[in-house]
Amino acid sequence: MAKKSNENATENLSNTHKFQTEVTQLLDLMIHSLYSNKEIFLRELISNASDALDKLNYLTLTDDAYKNLAFKPKIKIILNKENNTLSISDNGIGMNEEDLIENLGTIAKSGTKSFLSQLSGDKKKDSLLIGQFGVGFYSAFMVAKKIEVLTKKANEDQAYLWSSEASGEYDIAQAKKEDFGTTITLYLKDDELEFLEYYRIEAIIKKYSNHIPFEIYMDKEETIPAKDDKEEPTKEIKEVQVNRASALWTMNKSSIKDEEYKDFYQQISHDSTDPLLWIHTRAEGTIEYKTLFFIPTTQPMDLFRVDYQPGVKLYVKRVFITDDEKELLPTYLRFVKGIIDAEDLPLNVSREILQQNRILETIKRASVKKILGELKKLKEKDAEKYLEFYKTFGRVLKEGLYGDFENKEALLDLVLFKSSKREGLVSLKEYKEAMQEDQKSIYYITGQNEVLLRNSPLIEQFKAKDIEVLLLDEEVDAIVIPMVQEYDKTPIKPVNNSDIDEEIKEEDKISEEDEKNFQQILVKIKEILKDDVKDVKISSRLSDSPSVLVYDKNDPDFQMQEMLKQMGQDNLPKVKPILELNAKHEIFAKILEKEDFAALQDIAFLLLDQAKLAEGMKIDDIASFAKRLNKYIAKAL
Ligand code: ADP
Ligand code: MG
Repeated sequence: MAKKSNENATENLSNTHKFQTEVTQLLDLMIHSLYSNKEIFLRELISNASDALDKLNYLTLTDDAYKNLAFKPKIKIILNKENNTLSISDNGIGMNEEDLIENLGTIAKSGTKSFLSQLSGDKKKDSLLIGQFGVGFYSAFMVAKKIEVLTKKANEDQAYLWSSEASGEYDIAQAKKEDFGTTITLYLKDDELEFLEYYRIEAIIKKYSNHIPFEIYMDKEETIPAKDDKEEPTKEIKEVQVNRASALWTMNKSSIKDEEYKDFYQQISHDSTDPLLWIHTRAEGTIEYKTLFFIPTTQPMDLFRVDYQPGVKLYVKRVFITDDEKELLPTYLRFVKGIIDAEDLPLNVSREILQQNRILETIKRASVKKILGELKKLKEKDAEKYLEFYKTFGRVLKEGLYGDFENKEALLDLVLFKSSKREGLVSLKEYKEAMQEDQKSIYYITGQNEVLLRNSPLIEQFKAKDIEVLLLDEEVDAIVIPMVQEYDKTPIKPVNNSDIDEEIKEEDKISEEDEKNFQQILVKIKEILKDDVKDVKISSRLSDSPSVLVYDKNDPDFQMQEMLKQMGQDNLPKVKPILELNAKHEIFAKILEKEDFAALQDIAFLLLDQAKLAEGMKIDDIASFAKRLNKYIAKAL
């Protein structure tokens, strides 16, 4: 019969603490159980037990102070139908008083905090959010009205009992516990007693925790048949191992079922959706290692945070080393979850050594190639599924074009863009295949608004000539694409470059005489706008609009300037655009006809301001703009 653990507590040393506000918030959610999938509490507790065993395992292998510890890692789950309790014990690292306050009274993880800040108060929406999120220890309050944590830290003498009924407070008292490790006891709510059934718990463990590297045991009641007719059959309690405890990544691919991969993914990622694909590799030869990578279906909450939680865990010969090393894969693959298990690394590698380690570098390079290669295969084999991936992670993947020169070609084969000529997204390969015979370059336009881009004066000639333009409306594009320069030997050029390819130029040029007349306008406008623009030129790219802004080949364009500002570069030199004018526009014809050059004083600014607007820029002096505009509206009426 299980003893009530609080009998161990020494009452007079009990201390009451308040939970951090965020914890109270989270507990509130748990208790009102937004989350329908309550059984995952067990996955969370087992995963914590497994982490605690990992930590101690590592110390016994690397730290002299722990080397003599008798340590046979084990997790045990006990169901007690008399007290309506479920308890889970591990002989892992354990916690002292400070650890308890730190770990079970606050939320340190930024991911959790940002999760909480995203909650809307709308129960339906919030439960969807919570489903995508690893909820940790506190999830146990979905099924328990009260929780006790009896724990003793390895190599320390004092044990502690943490207890809480989730009402904003918890107690910590000194307690007695024979061995190091932790026992967590859940006093189940009256309507959650299904979690006392052996077969229910066994099924949950098999589903979520089959492949944690440690053995999980339960007490199973077995009926022993009677020896002869006179005696009744007897019942006996036997301790049985419930999970396989075989690190999945070390097993042979052919022996692993899809379901097992999926369950393993959910266990390491805390994601309740299935992964999009997985890549399982065993490398033999000079450097031996195993990797198992997963591409998720949904975006993790912290994907665009600097302090994101890396998704890849490092093991050395099946011993867990770290899950907090961002250098294991490049940042643009930070959505990948999984495991790297290296054979030839020392167990006690320091962080500094990790980051410069030649073996890890080799594994990293091979892994990146492998992952990009598999994505390419997916793109070729299952375009729809690839598109699903791309919509979720394409933005992050593109970041790779910025720094990973080694894999530039592979990345260029993976990125997709919107197009002036087609629905949906196109690849550079598809663009090239559809290029006109005499077309020399791949053209793109950058900006933040797809509609502005589609209607931009900058692409009027391209449209007239039926030349495709890629519409780059993601912020990252403005930084990344100018770095690329070419794809498969074809130059990639922005449409707002002051140099323009011959094939785009407007064919029916204006006559020499008209051009001479137009020079008078040009000179005047240049004088009027001399503080605002670098130059004023006749445009050969416009057909409908009177004016457009372009940039000198070596100047950053507006989008790039905005990006640089956002990245904290405030003292950029002021870059002036070049104003190009459509000499055939009727505005200019009328000015010349009436010889009304005085009107240019206003019109020059109207031409500049509308070009700015078309590019998504702000006008500095809106009052003057409106005044000038209204003056000409009144004139026209
Ligand atoms: P996470 O596991 O993601 O850190 P949890 O909410 O699941 O978040 O757990 C919070 C912390 O509590 C853990 O990081 C760990 O330090 C501590 N903890 C929880 N369970 C145990 C345990 N069985 N043994 C030792 N420490 C534990
Ligand atoms: Mg946890």
